[in-house]
Amino acid sequence: MTDHQFIEVHGARENNLKNVSLQIPKQSITVFTGVSGSGKSSLVFDTIAAEAQRQLNETFTAFVQGFLPHYGQPDVDQIDHLNAPIIIDQKRVGGGSRSTVGTYTDIAAVLRVLYSRVGQPAAGPAFHFSFNTPQGMCPECEGIGTTTQLRLDRLLDRTKSLNGGAILHPEFKVGKWMWKIYALSGLFDIDRPIQDYSEKELHDFLYGRDLKVSLGEINMTYEGLVERFTRMYLKKDAAAMSERNRAVFEGFTTSQTCPVCHGQRLNAAALACRIGGHNIAELSELEATELIAFLGDLTDPTARTIAARLIERMTHLVEIGLGYLSLGRETATLSGGESQRLKMIRHLGNSLTDMLYILDEPSVGLHARDVARLTGLLRQLRDKGNTVLVVEHDPDVIAVADHVVDIGPGAGTHGGEIVFEGSYAALKTADTLTGRHLAQHMPLKTDVRSPKGWMTVQDATLHNLKGVTVDIPTGVLTVVTGVAGSGKSTLINDVFLAQHPDAVVIDQSRVTANSRSAPATYTGIMDDIRKAFAKASGAPASLFSFNSEGSCPNCNGLGVTYTDLAFMEGFAQTCEVCEGKRFKPEVLEHHLRGKTISDVLDMTVEEALAFFTEKKIRSVVQAMQEVGLGYLTLGQPLSTVSGGEGQRLKLATELHKQGSVYVMDEPTTGLHLSDITLLLGIVGRLVDAGNTVILIEHHLDVIRQADWLIDLGPEGGKGGGEVLYSGPPQGLLDVPRSVTARFLLPA
Ligand code: ADP
Ligand code: ADP
Ligand code: ZN
Ligand code: ZN
Repeated sequence: MTDHQFIEVHGARENNLKNVSLQIPKQSITVFTGVSGSGKSSLVFDTIAAEAQRQLNETFTAFVQGFLPHYGQPDVDQIDHLNAPIIIDQKRVGGGSRSTVGTYTDIAAVLRVLYSRVGQPAAGPAFHFSFNTPQGMCPECEGIGTTTQLRLDRLLDRTKSLNGGAILHPEFKVGKWMWKIYALSGLFDIDRPIQDYSEKELHDFLYGRDLKVSLGEINMTYEGLVERFTRMYLKKDAAAMSERNRAVFEGFTTSQTCPVCHGQRLNAAALACRIGGHNIAELSELEATELIAFLGDLTDPTARTIAARLIERMTHLVEIGLGYLSLGRETATLSGGESQRLKMIRHLGNSLTDMLYILDEPSVGLHARDVARLTGLLRQLRDKGNTVLVVEHDPDVIAVADHVVDIGPGAGTHGGEIVFEGSYAALKTADTLTGRHLAQHMPLKTDVRSPKGWMTVQDATLHNLKGVTVDIPTGVLTVVTGVAGSGKSTLINDVFLAQHPDAVVIDQSRVTANSRSAPATYTGIMDDIRKAFAKASGAPASLFSFNSEGSCPNCNGLGVTYTDLAFMEGFAQTCEVCEGKRFKPEVLEHHLRGKTISDVLDMTVEEALAFFTEKKIRSVVQAMQEVGLGYLTLGQPLSTVSGGEGQRLKLATELHKQGSVYVMDEPTTGLHLSDITLLLGIVGRLVDAGNTVILIEHHLDVIRQADWLIDLGPEGGKGGGEVLYSGPPQGLLDVPRSVTARFLLPA
């Protein structure tokens, strides 16, 4: 858009940002660093990306704008010389069963061209090879690859009557509209158990059609329960449903591989067409590395031209550490890190220049070996003439920065300032938390704790695991290592956790239960705070809840109101009645040691520690302080808490328990080197208190501090799936096949 050399940000104040101004060089890589909660996302995503989106949307006509998401104006004086943004985050790539690695990257389209040109016997134009078009899809499963049947025994309790709740699906509950269609049809005795229906009645109930019925005023054509359920639910794609809807759906159905296409999704004509003996579905199941080898062997001149294009795109996949994925892999099954890397591939395939690329911790899920490939891709994006902004903690990614912006000095109210701007070389000698930590590395742990007992995983064969049998020690810190795709999550999250459902999983998924959730409610101290207020004031405890009678009726205790507009995200405004205080005025007349309930919810954890004398509250608040959340306020909506902050909040509520097994998948995501020291301290205390901790982790400092390592590999996908080593860290050094071993000693 412009030929200026810098993006200029003036007076940014989103969240904790303290009126910061800065210049960001264009056509360069700028990395934003700082502890978790220092304000990196507030600056990069909530301010720069939001404003870039907003400015871009303003270039469209009002009509088009009506269809775009609404971006409120970030709290910033001015940002000049922005380019059009492309945000590459870790949100999962949605899209249901029909979205695969191949369709998402458009590589599948090129493969279809290959089949339409040189496949034998010829099957016609390229879309006949697409399972997403009527001409190509298997008619039985409509291109999903699985078929689904209703489980009538689950849907119907025949010992009950319609009035007694015989239909078990939540949408058909007594009183709901779906229930009325049957109960008020006049066709059945609604107090008689289904098992006592006559044959005719039962048939009408389940399969009836074309019967005219009237429900009060409404005349309609009756449709039997099975017919309706099939039409409404069975034709839907479970992979595209929300987790909750899918769980309900799976409770009432069984699915199996489609008997017609055997999961290959295409119709017989498309599947009959072959190249070198293989149909397109078979090639879609090969891992990227295998497919590249196959394509490289083609000799037909037409085939070679198209194959060259395919190989180029597929090589990007391999370069970014995704060589173990197949084109047919559904994107819904990819991890956040895998999703983000796939988005990068999609953008590398286009030839856009002068864009503003914004990435959120792209190293997530990557082994130390593969980070070098990632940084190569970042450089490629820059060298095409783009401006690249990256929020990142990994020292090797920080090292490729042309420019570093370090935010701090601390988190929350203790952060929000720019503490360093300059080159990577200058950062290394800067007196900031980031600068100091870049120079330090954890030593390899030798005084390891001894296992107290064992939990065995026997003969695991899921995904790529090759009959893995491994003993996982109890009473120690175990770290599971290996390159991306080697099988770490499959072994721990899928196999181990299925056998040990009592293990506590601490992940970075949102901790929010509803829009009123806050640290005070999540940790359970809100009840005690309310009791303390009741005791001090003589008013009932229930008055001090922002979920019930004491809450401001205008905003229902949210403190904000939302304006909903069609096609746009609603935007929030401070409630004008309570001015964001969430409570009715009479509630705020009551005090505890001089503070109102609203004052208390505005307290940071640190302030709360100084204020509260109540024992239970103190112990929880103390735990929050210990996990480094001293700057959070008790009432901050959990929807605004970052993944790393949420993880530590979960840890804080667990700290006092004993004898449990904790599993964490890449807990260092979003954490600064200094946060990692803090995390290791907390984990160490959990283990010392008699717990077992299992981490899946790439961070070398964490790996070095383990009592026990389980290393998977040697490669990703089919080339992995073996346990290469299980034992104390030192011993891994003697395993030549292990990629991790090469990185184990600090450089
Ligand atoms: P980082 O990206 O460096 O981890 P963030 O920019 O996400 O940090 O957060 C900076 C601070 O602002 C943190 O204390 C966080 O809890 C707080 N914060 C983030 N979003 C919101 C919000 N929408 N409302 C209130 N506080 C927020
Ligand atoms: P890691 O955790 O070490 O990165 P994963 O356990 O995620 O590795 O993956 C191991 C192998 O299993 C890879 O080949 C991956 O593509 C495959 N895989 C993982 N999840 C699924 C899934 N839901 N469906 C099909 N294959 C999967
Ligand atoms: Zn089929
Ligand atoms: Zn209000």
